[in-house]
Amino acid sequence: MESRGTGVHSGRRRAGIVGALVVAVVVGALGLAAPASAQRPADRLAGRASDHSWLIEGARWDACRPITYAVNTRHLRADAAGKRAYVAEVRWAVRQIRLASGLQLRYRGTTTAVPQRGVANPAGVDVLIAWARPGRDSSWLTERRYLGYGGAEAVGHRLRNGFVVMNADVAHRYPSRRYRGDRRAWNRRITTLHELSHAIGAGHAHGRSQVMYPTLAGQAYRFGAGDATIMRTLGADRSACS
Ligand SMILES: [Zn+2]
Repeated sequence: MESRGTGVHSGRRRAGIVGALVVAVVVGALGLAAPASAQRPADRLAGRASDHSWLIEGARWDACRPITYAVNTRHLRADAAGKRAYVAEVRWAVRQIRLASGLQLRYRGTTTAVPQRGVANPAGVDVLIAWARPGRDSSWLTERRYLGYGGAEAVGHRLRNGFVVMNADVAHRYPSRRYRGDRRAWNRRITTLHELSHAIGAGHAHGRSQVMYPTLAGQAYRFGAGDATIMRTLGADRSACS
């Protein structure tokens, strides 16, 4: 994910032992466009259903059991109440994914672990979510200009070791001028939803109306038609669960 106008490549690359695909978000300039979808009727999803991709072609989580996740807020610049608000934003993103995919995600509480390249998640944690200080806490997040990374490994077509690392130094000041209400919170939410969707198995979309558009530049504040399609696809083999 990159900011509008930077022209920086999205940082999509294979890394790690089993090929984690990782996508970066670059800190944007001030003045993001207002979310085009914010006033749309709830029954209309923006964009084209075909506008989606896999993180790793054909690779899904095991949809027959809950995907567990844990959250690390220790490096955030926030007091205890502020940190709880960040966790609430993660849980909001989880809810969007559950509603769109049918996948069950189970919160395992907070953790002190931080995703690192080539290091498996703690036992019992499928998706490890952490805010980290660039260059200090995570080998994924080395530069200040990145807002976050999200990805997972695939063994065959089965995902594991999902992770989200977000930039703790800038989390409190995500730019956006026009959104009414808590603009910063919404930009954090959409970044969290974007990166968590990578960890669940979604790749990028082409259209700005999709959450999976690779740039934090006025894209949807909720899933568009392409996002909804890849989410349904990622959850599709639940029909085979007994
Ligand atoms: Zn991305």
